[in-house]
Parts: sequence; structure tokens; C-alpha cells
Amino acid sequence: MKNSGICPKCGSNDIMRVDGHAGAYGSGNNIMLGMTIFSAVKVNRYICMNCGFTEEWIDREDLGKIRTSSKAYEV
Ligand SMILES: [Zn+2]
Repeated sequence: MKNSGICPKCGSNDIMRVDGHAGAYGSGNNIMLGMTIFSAVKVNRYICMNCGFTEEWIDREDLGKIRTSSKAYEV
């Protein structure tokens, strides 16, 4: 949906993005990798305005933080 601009559920191209946010005490849509908001990786959401389907994506430039985090592990 992020890349195609098309909802995989209903085929609509009416997609909107809501940026992730890192607020106090870990509030907002993010992944806390450390103790402070400076180590939070924001999780951005893509929402289909036709059916409400939602996808969550982390920006590419933040993926390195996940890779090196002790909180993340390979599956
Ligand atoms: Zn849809």
C-alpha cells in the first residue's frame, strides 16, 4: 500500500499517511528501543480511506536502528 498506493483489500487508491510520533513516556505510535524518546523509532501508518484497512511501516532510514537494537531479534 505504501509502495503501490493501492489498498490490497479493496483496490482503492485513496490512501492517506499518518506519521508516527514519539512523545513523553513512549506515547505515540513508535517502537521504544531505549529509555528515552530519542531512541524511539516512529511507526507510520497508511490508511485506506475507502475501507479503513491500515498498514504500518518504519521508514528505511530507521531500519538500521532496529537491526542494531538489543530489543530486536531475527526470526
Ligand atoms: Zn481499502
